[in-house]
Amino acid sequence: MSSEGPAERREGSHKTTAAPGGGGEGNGAASAVRVGNFSDRRLRLNPNKDHKPESYADVRSDLDPGIYSALERHLPPSMLELPKDVKFQFMREILSKYLPEGERNRVQKHKEYRQKISEKYKPLHKEIYNMHPSSFFVPSFLEAINENTEESFRSIISEPSPGIYTFQMLQPKICDMLLSEVENFENWVHEARFRIMRPNTMNKYGAVLDDFGLEPMLDKLTDEFVCPLSKVFFNNVGGSSLDSHHGFVVEYGQNRDLELGFHVDDSEVTLNVCLGKQFTGGELFFRGVRCDRHVNSEYQPEESYDYSHVPGQAVLHRGRHRHGARATTSGHRVNLLMWCRSSVFREIKKYQKDFSSWCGECLREKKERQRQAVNAMRKELFKKEGEPVN
Ligand SMILES: [Zn+2]
Repeated sequence: MSSEGPAERREGSHKTTAAPGGGGEGNGAASAVRVGNFSDRRLRLNPNKDHKPESYADVRSDLDPGIYSALERHLPPSMLELPKDVKFQFMREILSKYLPEGERNRVQKHKEYRQKISEKYKPLHKEIYNMHPSSFFVPSFLEAINENTEESFRSIISEPSPGIYTFQMLQPKICDMLLSEVENFENWVHEARFRIMRPNTMNKYGAVLDDFGLEPMLDKLTDEFVCPLSKVFFNNVGGSSLDSHHGFVVEYGQNRDLELGFHVDDSEVTLNVCLGKQFTGGELFFRGVRCDRHVNSEYQPEESYDYSHVPGQAVLHRGRHRHGARATTSGHRVNLLMWCRSSVFREIKKYQKDFSSWCGECLREKKERQRQAVNAMRKELFKKEGEPVN
């Protein structure tokens, strides 16, 4: 059994949309309330247990909304009955002081980055910013999703290797529009001498779609199209609780990235759709699903699978399914990637040690332990049978 080199390098350390409610959204400053008037106010040490805090699930923040509800009980009594946005603004100012400096700068910079783009970039195809399923997807995919049963999904999906699902998804027209929109964005970036943020630490080319206005469309794509499939196929890695995404395109070929090393994605579920154009090579090679602890372990022959991209066709797999992309030997290949994440799954994972429901190596170890236990029991039984009975 060989291995493809270390996979521990988690692709991309971007957490831009990792927090529920979206990360640095530039134009989300919904209220213009000034906090200055309240600067003399102090939080109370003990919470007001009789006060029923509001829900902050709908506010845009990098922090968990529960934090605001919890903190609301500590507000000075004179503030408790003020409008929610005033309380939110006040609490946000306080909490921002506790974010690590680097994190605060990163969040702020990203917010400004998106703000600048949204002010200055003129979209080429307005129609792709709002999703119309019938024009986006091929009819077979749409029908299967509408029916929403495992049987309907299986009727359009192939599973050429365990945990790897492929299916026809996007209409050629949408692929073309996405390609030209990305090209248009990159031309604008170039002309405006704007410094572009690349999708992750491994790709030097490509763009984050969420950064130039496509976040709402991709939210809908995740909620209404990736989630139903993930619930059925990836329930054991948080497929039922996906709550954020990182959406981007990657570009391969001459004057672009050539290939991509062996790695795991920073996602629970990854959707990878080939948009085009003409190319040869660029196959994905998969080598088994692994947890953090086993990410560099060897693979079994049955875990090896190679996939050739077809424009419009999607591959859906676990983020922890180790993979890489072979060199795109000619032409130009562009793929749309959606890293879908579950904050709940990530939290629960911290308290678990055995991932045998999805990690191939954890499962192998578990079977080995069971085998040894059976052997030990067998030995014990034989010993007892051989002993003289008093
Ligand atoms: Zn494991």
